Amino acid sequence: MAIIDSIIAAFILYIVSLIINNQIPENKQIPKIPHRRCSAACSIILLQISIEFRFLFETLWGYVYFFVLFVNDFLVFGVMLTIFYFLYKKLVFKFGSITKEQFYNSPFLRIIKFFIIIVWIIAGIFLTIPLFGIPMYEYDLFELGLYWAAFAVGFNILLTILINKFFPIEKRIPKQPLKYAMYSGGMVSYGIWAIQLIVFELYLKRLFNIVLFQQDIRVLLCVVAVIYTTVLIVSLKKIFLPKARTKSNQRIQQSISFLEQQQTSRESKFNMTTEDKQVILDVQDLTTYFYTEEGVVRALEGVSFDIREGEVLGLVGETGCGKSVSALSVLRLIRPPGVIEKGSVVFNGEDLLKKTEREMLQYRGKDITMIFQDPLNSLNPVFKIGNQISEVFLLHMQDELLVEASKHDDKSIYSIAREWSIKLLKDLNIPHPEVIIERYPHELSGGMRQRVQIAMGLACRPILLIADEPTTALDVTIQNQILKLMKELHQKYKTTILFISHDLGIISKMCDHVAVMYSGSVVEYGKIQEIFSHSYHPYTKGLINSIPVVGKKQDKLTVIPGTVPNLIYPPSGCRFHPRCQYCFEPCDSIDPKRIHIDQQHVVACHLYDPQYKEQAEISKKKAENMK
Ligand code: SF4
Repeated sequence: MAIIDSIIAAFILYIVSLIINNQIPENKQIPKIPHRRCSAACSIILLQISIEFRFLFETLWGYVYFFVLFVNDFLVFGVMLTIFYFLYKKLVFKFGSITKEQFYNSPFLRIIKFFIIIVWIIAGIFLTIPLFGIPMYEYDLFELGLYWAAFAVGFNILLTILINKFFPIEKRIPKQPLKYAMYSGGMVSYGIWAIQLIVFELYLKRLFNIVLFQQDIRVLLCVVAVIYTTVLIVSLKKIFLPKARTKSNQRIQQSISFLEQQQTSRESKFNMTTEDKQVILDVQDLTTYFYTEEGVVRALEGVSFDIREGEVLGLVGETGCGKSVSALSVLRLIRPPGVIEKGSVVFNGEDLLKKTEREMLQYRGKDITMIFQDPLNSLNPVFKIGNQISEVFLLHMQDELLVEASKHDDKSIYSIAREWSIKLLKDLNIPHPEVIIERYPHELSGGMRQRVQIAMGLACRPILLIADEPTTALDVTIQNQILKLMKELHQKYKTTILFISHDLGIISKMCDHVAVMYSGSVVEYGKIQEIFSHSYHPYTKGLINSIPVVGKKQDKLTVIPGTVPNLIYPPSGCRFHPRCQYCFEPCDSIDPKRIHIDQQHVVACHLYDPQYKEQAEISKKKAENMK
């Protein structure tokens, strides 16, 4: 029995520790992973200690009466909980890598202390049973009463949760005050029943033989339910709901002033000229490798580009040149065996590569959003469209939702999120949005799904939108509609866009600047007109020449000879050299430097490097003669 009791006690300790931390508001919780690990370690250590000590005391019990006291369940649990308190503190500081401030800010330890006091009081009461020689029977009314009261409280709490869920979302009692009221009701009703059991059943009846009334399970159920309901209603009305209202008013005021500040800063940014606009994303020397069984895939090798506020930058290149990997690296969504080896991704003045995973969650989906190539793979198949769009609002636009909800008595943030979702779908020219939000992704056409994805991307007005080939999976007519729509939305919301495509035609329609990528590097970067009228890099020239021109008859379409190199064994020097008609002396051995043609036009090619000016001229002449 000692082993089973100890296992149950250790398990209860672990579960209670997790539940307590989960019930604390998120900003005051002890970080989940260290908390879970330290709680588990403490419970295992305590299990070992309690088993050994219980064996020892049970053995000694036969010889020394004093040790019978130590086989009291609550006493053992009290000792375990007290050791847990000190052990947990030690472990979480040593291995949890959390700061003292984080730790003492959390009410977790205060709650554990409160439980320690309660358990010791109960243990004290149970100690009086052997000390006073109070008789106990096999099916004891006293202990049964304690268990039944616990059951009745649990049942009442469950019923409260279910009844609250039964109401429409606007009329439900908010979670936090309801939780506090339920706990208060539970503790008070259980406490009152337990106290009367101790006084009337245990001491008066057993110790002094005074029988005032017989304990009855039906009375127990009614009394606990009445006390629980009374405390629940009174505490909700008098304490928790007014407190929640005051808090929510304060929060609304904070949200209003935050939104006003945001609006002022946005307006001042929109009025800036192109030169004044600040660089919103500055990617420098970004290098990402994939460590596969075949070898190291050098997917990105020193990628550099920047985007100013409100601009659209096109990232163009053949399939497999690293466009999508660049986008995923910016958002830190590269999964193993991929590793971002070096570089910096400065977004709004902050280097994203130095952020923790938790901090990155604040950026993804709010400040930076991404539209993926295939919407069917990126929408969740088991949730309705409306829920998926509303979730974006609920996660990232709580301030705006709160302010809006405070203007209407009959609306909650959930109903407003739903209204906004419908409006957004309307903006995206989706017919009957009220019907569409009730559909699942597989019930929509490809074009509709892509619009829904764009809606989710634009839902919280991101600072930067990354569109990774958003029209590739669509037919030409839908492609044009989506591009037109994205242009309109860009003009309306002034969103900065990183637009990825292999199609130069689309890039020319959409972008202000373009970065041409080849085999994991940016080979040319500049204004869109510059790139199309005066491109410098041989690869960019090849790409532009390969666009068929309407009205110009050709026997064969112009192509870039050769194929994209294997990124596990990329060519040495300039990676384009095996396909380049201008290739000369240093190209196969030395990486080309980034040469500034002018302030906004950069090219990575030895042809424009002043160091190789003479060889470059000879190479150009040779290539001209060969044409
Ligand atoms: Fe061609 Fe040499 Fe320029 Fe590379 S560096 S694109 S091989 S000329």
